[in-house]
Amino acid sequence: MPFENFLGNPGAAAQVRAAVRDRAGNPTWLLSGPAGVGKTTLALRLGLGLNCQKPAPEGEFCGECASCQSFRGFDCLPELIEAGLEYRQAAARTRARELAPLMVEAHPQIRFFPPDGEMLTMAQAREAARMAQMRPDPGRHWVLILEGFDRARWMVQSAMLKVLEEPPAGCTLVLLAAHAREVLATVRSRARVVELGPVDSGELETWLAGQRPEMKHAELELIARLAGGCPGRARGLDLAAYRQKREFFMACLEALARPGGHIRLFGLTEGMRNQKEGVETQAEILYSLLQDVVYLKSGHSLAIRNLDARSRLEGWARQIGWNQLTQAVEQLDRLVGLSRRNLNRALAWDAWTLRLRARA
Ligand SMILES: [Zn+2]
Repeated sequence: MPFENFLGNPGAAAQVRAAVRDRAGNPTWLLSGPAGVGKTTLALRLGLGLNCQKPAPEGEFCGECASCQSFRGFDCLPELIEAGLEYRQAAARTRARELAPLMVEAHPQIRFFPPDGEMLTMAQAREAARMAQMRPDPGRHWVLILEGFDRARWMVQSAMLKVLEEPPAGCTLVLLAAHAREVLATVRSRARVVELGPVDSGELETWLAGQRPEMKHAELELIARLAGGCPGRARGLDLAAYRQKREFFMACLEALARPGGHIRLFGLTEGMRNQKEGVETQAEILYSLLQDVVYLKSGHSLAIRNLDARSRLEGWARQIGWNQLTQAVEQLDRLVGLSRRNLNRALAWDAWTLRLRARA
């Protein structure tokens, strides 16, 4: 298994390396930052380092010992999660979520709990708390990673409090969150909070060129910008699919730029029903467009992300007023806030356009 360098956030990576080197890090970590910025990768590296039998002095895992060899790879999660869901479907039990909490094994000592549906469930939190109490084999260390912890209901977050208050020896919890501040204060105060920020787009582009050598320079530059500094997003970004999704929001902006265009805007929310990703992922595309319009209106044209849509964006920057822009951003913020409380996705978009319409 080749050693992979961690891209960006050198401060966060250094904290994890130091914890591995000293074998005395906090028992609970809270890694926060946007999706795809590297939280999961960092959590996995912590787990590998703590279990490595021949760790290098600077706190890296060796990639060769029996423990490192039993790791299923940094890219193993989507496939394992899919398999976990399939297993449950095949089991066809009515209380599948409670009886078989979704959990995947990236390594014999590293367990990953992805949100089951929209968010982590109580059954998953209970399972993680139960596992935390199990003694690991000598020289081994449990690392339990809970993704989307900030979106979990407060009851679910609270279910982990006992583990946080009396951390069992030989177990490290890693809570992943888009926004650390949305994690319960009682949880946050007991965790080592590490915030990860976007990677510089030039650095991301250089890295991407190594990952996707078939791509032309202009495409690499565009993807690096669209990914908003998140390597995980950049690596898997399919430009054609992205453009197709973006077109929906471009139509929204077009409607916003035209008087009376709101009626068409309302009808467009139909297009957002049955989309696989969550509201936040969808909203990120609209945020990037709105942000670009703001950049263009304020003369920062070099900063725009949607490089391939420059001329349309320039047109909107002239047509859409600051008031309309502010309202659109405020409504979008509100929508994303609501979606974190598990609001129905289509309803959320309808509410957003209705509010804009009311103010038009
Ligand atoms: Zn090793």
